Amino acid sequence: MTVPTAPLPAATILGYPRIGPDRELKRAVESYWKGALDVSGLRERAADLRTGTRAHLRELGLAGASAVPADFTYYDQVLQVTTAFGALPPRFADLRGGAGAASDPSADAESHPGTSLPGFFAAARGEDDRAALEMTKWLDSNYHYLVPELDEDTPIDYIPGFGAVDPTDGPVSQVLEALAAGEPVPRPVVVGPVTYLLLAKAADGAAPGFRPLDRLHDVLSAYGHLLADLWAAGAEWVQLDEPALVCDAWDTPREDVLAAVADAYTWISAITERPRVLVAGSYGSLGDALPVLASTGIEGLAIDLVAGELPDAADLAGLDGKSVVAGVVCGRNIWRTDLEVALATLESLRDALPETVPIVVGTSTSLQHVPHDAERETRMPDDIRSWLAFADQKVAEVRVLARALAEGREAITGELAEDARLRAERAAHPGVNRGEVRAAVLAVTRADRTRASYAERKAAQDSRLGLPVLPTTTIGSFPQTAEIRSARAAHRRGELDDAGYEAAMRAEIARVVRLQEEIGLDVLVHGEAERNDMVQYFAELLDGFAVTEHGWVQSYGSRCTRPSILWGDISRPEPMTVAWSAYAQSLTDRPMKGMLTGPVTIMAWSFVRDDIPRAQVADQLGLALRAEVSDLEAAGIPVVQVDEPALRETLPLRRADRPAYLEWSVGSFRLATGGAAPSTQIHTHLCYSEFDVVIDAVDHLDADVTSIEASRSRMDILPAVAARGFERQLGPGVWDIHSPRVPSAAECTDLLERAAAALGIEKLWANPDCGLKTRAYAETESSLRHLVEAARAVREAADTDEG
Ligand code: GLN
Ligand code: ZN
Repeated sequence: MTVPTAPLPAATILGYPRIGPDRELKRAVESYWKGALDVSGLRERAADLRTGTRAHLRELGLAGASAVPADFTYYDQVLQVTTAFGALPPRFADLRGGAGAASDPSADAESHPGTSLPGFFAAARGEDDRAALEMTKWLDSNYHYLVPELDEDTPIDYIPGFGAVDPTDGPVSQVLEALAAGEPVPRPVVVGPVTYLLLAKAADGAAPGFRPLDRLHDVLSAYGHLLADLWAAGAEWVQLDEPALVCDAWDTPREDVLAAVADAYTWISAITERPRVLVAGSYGSLGDALPVLASTGIEGLAIDLVAGELPDAADLAGLDGKSVVAGVVCGRNIWRTDLEVALATLESLRDALPETVPIVVGTSTSLQHVPHDAERETRMPDDIRSWLAFADQKVAEVRVLARALAEGREAITGELAEDARLRAERAAHPGVNRGEVRAAVLAVTRADRTRASYAERKAAQDSRLGLPVLPTTTIGSFPQTAEIRSARAAHRRGELDDAGYEAAMRAEIARVVRLQEEIGLDVLVHGEAERNDMVQYFAELLDGFAVTEHGWVQSYGSRCTRPSILWGDISRPEPMTVAWSAYAQSLTDRPMKGMLTGPVTIMAWSFVRDDIPRAQVADQLGLALRAEVSDLEAAGIPVVQVDEPALRETLPLRRADRPAYLEWSVGSFRLATGGAAPSTQIHTHLCYSEFDVVIDAVDHLDADVTSIEASRSRMDILPAVAARGFERQLGPGVWDIHSPRVPSAAECTDLLERAAAALGIEKLWANPDCGLKTRAYAETESSLRHLVEAARAVREAADTDEG
């Protein structure tokens, strides 16, 4: 047997943020895209970052062989696999690698069969008229991966290349790099084969009925070569991430998923020359996939004991002969681990597992979802900072817990006491438990979440707003110009005083209002120039949130976000949007739409407190927004939109958990909007076209008007919506704002006609797919003109039909 026998270390993490403490990777990659850095310069900066990260993790105590994960990628871990196997769709055929690979000017690239670094970025970002791979959310997180597009003919090869340098600096190169520097061998991390295929989609031209999982054997043979290469490079362990196994809501039936797991890991473990295999099932419980994995010859299993439960004793007994990584430190949120609770979990696990099974203390997921180091947040109040654990603090936690497991809890008496002290201090903080906020939530009644009947509202709104059939509007933001950004930045730095800032924003609002009037839109917006971000804007104005200075996390590729930290009970010290909206309304006779972000989206894009149920947090937000809606009404704003683009992304991975989630999420939206007068028109906006799984929930939001993304899918969803009997108004997007392309009036007309045919023109609105803040003015103006022209054409045609 040539599989190494080295054990895993006592403590590890499943992954570490790869963007760098000061977003070094973002800066390097973006300089390369701008042409300021060449490929070798980029690769050098990336190598420095990786070397620095490994050294840092060793200093933090992840010292042994296989303790440090090697999970670097320039863009995305799923794209890393796609390009290693050359599994690109036909439009990128020239980038697949091997013969005819797009040439990489850096040395060694030709000797490796994989896709070159320029090709890798082309697939990630698109190039000329070739659209990028689609991007979507990774499990229920806020990280986006690039979706593989497969059909029955997509080439999937990995040509053994040991000794060659992978042009995308993949896992083999990372192992070689560390060993060449005389470091302990790291543990390469690769997305596992079943997850890779479950996260893939069937390419457009695929045969009817084709499922990516049908390609399992081809993919396995490529993984086999990759594992052989990793082994030859010196890797002792490899981590194969299989988070898709915790989700039971794929289109593929569960028994097929389980059969694929059995097939894949029986096949992989039969390879004789390979590193030991650790399969990681993060983001929930593996459930019935656990015994299936246990029955294969893999050497280790990482289980998530934060989002998932402790497996049944019988299942644990089946893990004899394997190592178990116990994910008791949360990889996704930023709170200190409750050491008592984690230790108790570890003890129960130890009691239930066969004595021979080594337990490794680990994180529940990769730490890619959390920022680097809470110690750097020196501007945050000291007490709040002391409750936090970012990636580096979590490394310390896994080590402390590993010590307790090895030496007994007496070995960490000091840490347990300190943790208990901080926990008590947090619980006693006056901002954490505010009687008036708790009482207000308790006092919420069903009536608070219920508006007048839709018929009554519709009549009141029709007479108040006097809109034409097929009214036109936008989703809220207008292009964020360089001037707007610099005014905001100058104001933040104190270089522009409040009056100067207000004048700049008012001038922008006035311009946007005039433009919309001139274009002929029916319901106007103020343009959201004052908002850096649709969540952070509210987080900064509400009590109960803290903002970080360095807390960046990767959203996708080089894009990072800095989520706010929701730590306390929430209240609204004063109106947040009313002055801007009221000013905008004062400039026009047309209805102005107030713009708010909904409770679910504020929570989804923040780090949320872990000490009270999410449903309660959502209602606190619902009440704060309800007060804002009421103030907007008092200021004469007749239409209010509450955006919930995240409603679907935080849908639980297990079907059984969905009803409860939808109940509280829908309830919080209704609490936010339920106080609105019948004559106030409530809109909501959702940012995806596949809203079939949440369509009942969307209906229960009881908004008067719902806008959704629909242009790319060419209104495909509408017949299903109509069949379901969606009673209220819908604005399916007719302009794909993710692309700089200007749709013609004819295209918009065609989409509106399809929508009218499915839904009836009386229920229809004309609007873009989403907000315009990432667009430029030139394309925005033309596209909106075409949209208005199309709406008029469809109205007139409908009139003539009737006449
Ligand atoms: N109102 C927001 C905007 O227009 C909505 C953004 C979103 O849906 N993500 O920018
Ligand atoms: Zn949107």
